[in-house]
Amino acid sequence: MTPRLQLPRYGAQVSLDRASERRADTAWIEARLADERARFLLLADLKPCLAANADGTTARLRWFTRQELDALAIPLASAMFLGTDDAADRFAVALTPDVMVAEPLRAALMPLVDVRSLAVQGAMSEAELALAGQARSLAAWHAIARCCGRCGAATSPRDAGWRLVCTACGQEFYPRCDPAVIMLVTDGERCLLGHERRFPDRFYSVLAGFVEPGDDIEHAVRREVMEETGVKVGAVRYIASQPWPFPHALMIGCWAEALSTQITLDPAELEDAFWASREEVRAMLEGRDPHGRTLPGRQSMAHTLLTAFLERSI
Ligand SMILES: [Zn+2]
Repeated sequence: MTPRLQLPRYGAQVSLDRASERRADTAWIEARLADERARFLLLADLKPCLAANADGTTARLRWFTRQELDALAIPLASAMFLGTDDAADRFAVALTPDVMVAEPLRAALMPLVDVRSLAVQGAMSEAELALAGQARSLAAWHAIARCCGRCGAATSPRDAGWRLVCTACGQEFYPRCDPAVIMLVTDGERCLLGHERRFPDRFYSVLAGFVEPGDDIEHAVRREVMEETGVKVGAVRYIASQPWPFPHALMIGCWAEALSTQITLDPAELEDAFWASREEVRAMLEGRDPHGRTLPGRQSMAHTLLTAFLERSI
C-alpha cells in the first residue's frame, strides 16, 4: 500500500463556515458585529495578537470581545469577517500604524508574533494557525490595495473585507491569491535541491516559482525548472496544495520527472543546486548532514514533497 502523504503543518484546516453568501448583506454583518458572541482577532503589522502564555510551550490566538475593543478605542469599520463556528462569529481587525502609535494600546496588544514564526515553531493548533494565516493574507491585500489601480482614487471595503470598490470609478477588486508551483524534480533515485540567494546559509529546498499569465501548472513547472537549472522536465503530476500567507500565495505541490540531469544555474535565481540522494535528503531533514545543509520544516509543502520522496509515496 502506498504510504499516506504527510501534509504540511500549515494548511487550510479551516474550522469556520465563511458564510460567503451572507457577507455581502450589510445588515447581517452589522448584526454579527453587534452580537455579544462576536470575537475579534487583532493584527498589528500583520502579526496576530496572542493570548499570554506563561510557559511558552503553546501559542493561542487572543480573541477580543466587542467591549474590549471599545475600551481600547479600536474602530470596527474595517473589520474583516473570517467566518462563524458553534461558539462565535469571528472577525479580524488589522491595525494601521497610525492607530497603533499610542503606546498604551501597543502594550495592550502584546505579545505579537508573526505567522511564519508560529508555523515554524509548531506551538499553535493547525486550525488557529490557518485562521491567523487567512486573516494575514486578507490584511496584507488590504494594505496594498488602498487605491484603485485604474484611476488612482481611494478604495472602500465591501462584503466585510472580501471586496474593495473604487470610490470614484466603481472598479471592483477581489482578494489577491498568487498561485506558485513548488516541485520535487526527480530522476528516480535523486531529487533536485536548490539554494536561493535570499536563503539562510546552507539552507536548501525544492524548486519553486510563480505561475505566470498563460501558464498551466505543468508548463509553469517545466518553465521554472528550465529557467533556474537548465534541467528538462517531462511528466508533471499534481500532489497537494497549501495556502501560504506570505503575503497571499497558493503553493501547488507537484512531482516532476527529469529528462536531463546537467545543471546550468541561473545565477540571478540560484546560488547552488545539486542532485541529492535519498540518504542525503534524510540526513539533511534529520539535521545530521556532514556539510551542515538543512531543509524546510514540517510547516511547508517542500517538507511534504521531500518526505514523500523518501517514502517513495509519490
Ligand atoms: Zn477607480
